[in-house]
Order: sequence, then structure tokens, then C-alpha cells
Amino acid sequence: MTAYEAVIGMEVHAELQTASKMFCSCAVVDSTSAAPNQHVCPVCLGMPGVLPVINQQAVEFGLRVGLALNCEIPEFSQFARKSYFYPDLPKGYQISQYEFPLAVRGWLEIDLPDGSTKRIGIRRAHLEEDTGKLTHVDGHSLVDLNRAGVPLLEIVTEADIHSAEEAEAYARKLRAILRYLEVNSGDMSKGVLRMEPNISVRPVGASELRTRTEVKNLNSIRVVARASAYEIERQIKVYESGGTVQQATLGWDENRQSVVVQRLKESAEDYRYFPEPDLPIVIIPRDQIEAIRAALPELPDAKRDRFITAFGLSHYDAAVLVAEQAVAYYFEAAVQAGGDPKQIANYIIGDVFRQMNNESRDREEIGAIKLTPKALADLVTLVQKGTINHGVAKKLMDTLYTDGGDPARLVEERGLAQVSDESVLAAAVIAVLDAQPGEVARYLAGEDKVVKFLMGLVMKAMRGKGDAQMVQRLLTEQLEARRTN
Ligand SMILES: [Zn+2]
Repeated sequence: MTAYEAVIGMEVHAELQTASKMFCSCAVVDSTSAAPNQHVCPVCLGMPGVLPVINQQAVEFGLRVGLALNCEIPEFSQFARKSYFYPDLPKGYQISQYEFPLAVRGWLEIDLPDGSTKRIGIRRAHLEEDTGKLTHVDGHSLVDLNRAGVPLLEIVTEADIHSAEEAEAYARKLRAILRYLEVNSGDMSKGVLRMEPNISVRPVGASELRTRTEVKNLNSIRVVARASAYEIERQIKVYESGGTVQQATLGWDENRQSVVVQRLKESAEDYRYFPEPDLPIVIIPRDQIEAIRAALPELPDAKRDRFITAFGLSHYDAAVLVAEQAVAYYFEAAVQAGGDPKQIANYIIGDVFRQMNNESRDREEIGAIKLTPKALADLVTLVQKGTINHGVAKKLMDTLYTDGGDPARLVEERGLAQVSDESVLAAAVIAVLDAQPGEVARYLAGEDKVVKFLMGLVMKAMRGKGDAQMVQRLLTEQLEARRTN
């Protein structure tokens, strides 16, 4: 059997969440927060004779993304008309960029599950306008043009992605960067960020590019991974059975977990692109570009590397923390409040994420949980100073997560302070051993694992508050003492 590899390029449409639309002053609104066709004007309705005006903020947002993706910014860029007819496109053409995009030749680094990283080339990023939205109800089609003219940035990779796993990692990293840059909410379920992998497969070792298919409008990162894996498998099966893959635009059917053919693909010539006569060429002075570059926030990779060097975190832990900007900020706030960075990272990735998963909360909502960064830092410090043990800390975490509060006060109110008084612990150990002659005999006969059971009994007698290390030491001492008796 032939071994195959996937060749994937990703096209992403990201709405630039500016105050107003790309070429008019209509507001950019959330599709769920406005009645249909409330935010329209002659320009975005495509009335004859109107003139578009370029939104400066959208150009700046696009440059932020281009620079964050390590792109070159050419001397100038130019808008072009992409002609096609569709009921959600009143002008009969979309204003896009074609020959002269805003940004070119960049790259983005993806983090793979095995801890390795890989660079994915960015071919281009160009500005365009979004279309309206069609809703099909009871045999009628309804048009909402609130979205018509919303600024979009289309980001196109080189065909550097070679598995569904890499496609997912790319989607994850790009979404994180857009959110860090505060140009896009990343809310894929609302359609503000749409991902479209172009997929082909070929025998491993071949350099030819075979016919590709495009899977459109995937609305979550998980779906990007699932749809890519499905389509890769499907194409391999086609070749294995002696068939040929047909160039096509596909959709993802979430219910059937399979792809469906939407249409056979048109080529660029069909759109008859030509320079947009109503808009000037866009030339951005170099000093303005450098000013935008200088004002970029610390991005995920830089933050990850800093967490590794400054706090001694593992690559994996650091990558998990920076994947969501809100989590990175939460972690930094807790470290700022005086907690041990490694312990804080452990509690966030372990207990906090588990609690949030139980509630089906997204990690980006971490800023809204009742356990504040300061409380987490205090909790970690209480453990480190030996005031409470790990077991008590875990239970306190649950309380703090559900109800909030001050860890030190809770420890005092509930009498949770760790017992490290050797005479008290020794008395508890002796009482347990006296009550368990059978277990003691098993230990003395060489069954070391009995210690764990006895340890549990002592900790239970101490209501969970014993200093675990001291209990363990005393237990071993007292057991060994009985060997000679
Ligand atoms: Zn308008």
C-alpha cells in the first residue's frame, strides 16, 4: 500500500472588528445584537453612483496582523474588483485586493502536541469587504446586509501544512494572535473568523501537487481538525480505489460528520479582477508602519519564551498558558501577587481548568471566575510556607472557585492549618499502629505498600491536616521500631 501525505494551504477570513465598515461609516455590529438591515447606507447597499472611502482603522488593523505574522509590507497595495453575482452582494462585485495585497511573505510558528514547533509560511494577507447574509426560511430567502461591507482580512498560507493536526495547530495559533492583537474576537461560532483548508494528498516523497478541494466556512477549531482529517482520508480512498479527485468546494455536515459538495470550483479568471477605479492606491509611509510594529503587544510565542526563561516553566506548560490571552494575563497577575510561578501554573492547568471544564466554561472566561489571581497566589504561598498541606489546598481550591474568598481567612475560620507538632503526630501514628497489628505484621513481612494504607488512616485521624512528609517519616520510624520488639 502506498503511504500518502496531505498538502494543505489554509485560507482564513477574519473580520476586522473596527467601529465602522470598510468603505462607509455604517457601524460594524454583532449579528445577534441588531435587527436585520439596520446598519446600511447607499454605499454598502451598492446604489449606483456612490463612492467608497477607505477605513484607516481597518488598514491599521490589517497591518498589525501582517506585522505580527512576520510579513513584508510592500511599497503600496491596491484594491481590485472581484465580479460575481450573488443575492448577498448588491453591487455585483466585491472590493478585494488581488495583484497587490497589503502584506506578503510572512510566517507563523505552530506548536504541535509532541512539544515541537514548525513554521508555516504566510503567502499573503489582503483587505476586502464582507458580503451580506442569507437566511433560508420556509422556501423564502431573507437578505440581511448589516454584514455587507464589514472589513475582512483574508490570510493565505503556503501549502506547508501536512496533517489535520498541523491544520488544527495553525488555526489555534492564528486565532490566538488575532485575539492578542485585539482585531478579532475569535468567536468562530458567530462567523467573525472563518477557516477554509485547501486539501490534496500525494504519495510520500512525491513533489507533484494533485487536485485539491476546499472545505468552506468551518466554524470551530475542532471542526477544522475533524473536517481536514475526514477529507484527507476520503481522497486517499479515492486514489487507492483507482479514482481521481475532482476539484470542488465542499461544506462540512456536522450531523453526518462528513463533507458535502457545494459546487465545482471556479477559477480566478471567472472573477475578472481589475483595479478598483473608485479607490486610490494605498501607500503607507515607512515610519507609520514602524510605529504600528513598535506598538504591537507581546505575542504568544514571545510570551511563551519569556515564561520559560523567567519562571522556569516547561515548554508545554508555557504554551498552554499563552494559548489564550486571558489565561496568560491571569497567570501573570497571580505571579505579580507574589505566588510561586511553577505552582501557580500547575494549579491553573490542573485544578482551575478542570473546574472550568466541569462548567463547560471557555478558558478565555478565566478572568470572570471567583478565584482571583491574588487568592490563587495566596493559596500557593500558604502551601509553600507549610501552613496547609496539598490535600487541604485542593479542597480549599474547590471552595474558592465556587464562592471566592480569602484563603488565609478560610484556613483560620475552618481550623485547616497543618499540624506539624511532632508529638501530636507521633501519638496519632502510634494509636493507628496499635489498632492495626495485622497490617504491621504484613509490613514487617516485607509488604511495603501497607505504609500507604496506614498513612491514609493517620491522615484521616488528623482530619486531613497532618504534615504529610512528617507523618510518613514518623510512620516508617515507628514501624521499623516494632521490628526489633
Ligand atoms: Zn454603509
